[in-house]
Amino acid sequence: MIEPDVHRGFVAPDVPPSEVFDRCVRCGLCLPTCPTYVETLVETSGPRGRIALIKAVAEERLDLTSPGFVHQMSECLDCRACEAVCPSGVEYGRILEPARTQVTRALAPARSWYARLGRALLIGTMFEHLGVMRAAARLLKFYQRSGLRALVLRSGVLRALGLQDVEALAPRVSDRFFIPRDQRFSAPGTSRATALLHAGCVMHVAFAAWNEATVRVLNAAGVTVVVPSAQGCCGAITIHAGEMERGRGLAMRNIAAFEQSGADVYVINAAGCGSALKEYANLFHDDPAWAERARAFSAKVRDVTEYLDEIGIAPEKFGPVPGVVTYQDACHLAHAQRITAPPRRLLALVPGLELRAMPESSLCCGSAGIYNVTQPEMSQRLQRRKVDRIIETAPQTVATANPGCALQMRNGLDRAGASHIAIKHVVEILDESLRAGAAG
Ligand code: SF4
Ligand code: SF4
Repeated sequence: MIEPDVHRGFVAPDVPPSEVFDRCVRCGLCLPTCPTYVETLVETSGPRGRIALIKAVAEERLDLTSPGFVHQMSECLDCRACEAVCPSGVEYGRILEPARTQVTRALAPARSWYARLGRALLIGTMFEHLGVMRAAARLLKFYQRSGLRALVLRSGVLRALGLQDVEALAPRVSDRFFIPRDQRFSAPGTSRATALLHAGCVMHVAFAAWNEATVRVLNAAGVTVVVPSAQGCCGAITIHAGEMERGRGLAMRNIAAFEQSGADVYVINAAGCGSALKEYANLFHDDPAWAERARAFSAKVRDVTEYLDEIGIAPEKFGPVPGVVTYQDACHLAHAQRITAPPRRLLALVPGLELRAMPESSLCCGSAGIYNVTQPEMSQRLQRRKVDRIIETAPQTVATANPGCALQMRNGLDRAGASHIAIKHVVEILDESLRAGAAG
């Protein structure tokens, strides 16, 4: 049975699940786009099979906690590739997310003490209080830079604890953090608009260079950037972990911070977070005090590539950045936000850059939030597949627009002995080119 309250996630709660089920005509056109289906060729590991399973649970023909169902709700990457191609307009996310939330809740009492502690630390502490995240990042930085890491790796303790893969996926902490402190970065001359930059949670301590590049590129495009200190984590991981009220609290904080800023647009450079920010309205559909504010907020959110493509940058500002670049579509940009052309159009502006198409560029790399921790085997299969496609394409750089994809591809390329291939955000390449242009 699907409980009504779990629809208060990033899924539209106003549509009965049965309407979603009944829209699926079982044509199978979504199957070749589903990463877990193409890897396994098992019906229940594809969207059509998962829809049938969720329907069976909703109709009480299958138990919510049956191992097969639990496995499928966890194995699905929530990449939404199936949604993007479905000719019947099945909004798969509308049923997956509530089903997943219910499984999470139903299994909560059986969680081990360390799993509970991990959730409390991550969900209840770090994502809510970014100061705690910064303290943890400083500890991780000490571990990564002091020689302690080399010692731990040599000792074999991580392997003994089964933690070596998780450790390898940890982001390299930035040399300096990009902390929201009510900064204002004014565009030279007359400003075309004011953009609020969402600095992120992990982003502000591990991808600070992406935020810095974003500020410079927006400034070069004539846009003033503000970074209010009152903003916080987007809440995506919190909501997906089934903690709806906490997630709504994070959303309220961002909505209020962004309203007070008076910015024209809210720019984000992480696809997963952008997709969450654009779906805030679904969190407050039954809350008269917040519904309209959330709708107005989401309407102003733009991925940085979407926004730059919309406003345009004078082509003569770009200087040469020679090299072969391939672009990897992040699922939450390509499928959830349906943004595929803008990043490519922006990269095409860079003189000397050869943009080479990668086969299966929109097939998930296996990162998907914390999927590489919860489903390590499937995650590694998809990672290897992605790395093979990258190596076949033979680029010097892979451009992306999501931190999770960047970490997953970096880890996979390093394992495959292809550390020479760089991974960059699209804005980092644009920044390089604009700086080359400015230097003449
Ligand atoms: S493409 Fe749409 S209608 Fe066809 S099987 Fe997939 S979900 Fe169902
Ligand atoms: S969301 Fe992605 S992994 Fe899940 S069923 Fe759809 S295509 Fe497959």
